[in-house]
Amino acid sequence: MKTIGLIGGMSWESTVTYYQVINQVIAKSLGGLHSAKSILYSVDFQEIESCQANNEWDKSALILIDAAKRLEGAGADFIVICTNTMHKVADQIQNAITIPIIHIADVTAKHLLNQNINSVALLGTKYTMEQDFYKAKLVEKGLDVLIPDESDRNVINNIIYDELCRGIIKPESKQAYLTIIEKLAKRGAKGVILGCTEIGLLISQQDCAIPFFDTALLHAQEAAMLSISE
Ligand code: GLU
Repeated sequence: MKTIGLIGGMSWESTVTYYQVINQVIAKSLGGLHSAKSILYSVDFQEIESCQANNEWDKSALILIDAAKRLEGAGADFIVICTNTMHKVADQIQNAITIPIIHIADVTAKHLLNQNINSVALLGTKYTMEQDFYKAKLVEKGLDVLIPDESDRNVINNIIYDELCRGIIKPESKQAYLTIIEKLAKRGAKGVILGCTEIGLLISQQDCAIPFFDTALLHAQEAAMLSISE
């Protein structure tokens, strides 16, 4: 079994999901008392969020490079960055280590293409929805990406940072997300990327007919399967 290196804590609320899903997949796949070999480096999210808000992405990259090097040094075989947003600096991290990073957008795109969905809505932080680092990965695979309008993007973003990353789950926020998803479906989206690792804590597939692609689940499942692949 390969050892999974997790860069987590962004936020820790969703890192819990990764740890749980990875171990569930290993237990189901191997049976018995099997569980995943993994090493978690969990950052202080306040430091990362300050870098984001102040447009200090290089500074945030240095924090995550330090984490990745520690994981590599401790014996991780590959790295999973447990957030969509911080994939903005994934290339910088990859250039600083010799083990591979499993990119969350590549994993997500693979699942969309497998289900023949080519027009997809993207929900996430304002950085993920508005900037190119994430969308470009999807577009280069032939996907058409729809994002909410500006006021809806603010709603989505604020709920992530003010509520979900603090473990606060409100029914009215869930309704707000579902209403925004309905609008995106009317604009032609055939699926929705839950492109922030905390969104799955708020909404789930049973709330909505349009297929969800929950990046935290897909990324964690991929990591688990990769750890037991030949
Ligand atoms: N976990 C979130 C994501 O997937 C947001 C927190 C962050 O800014 O890293 O993008």
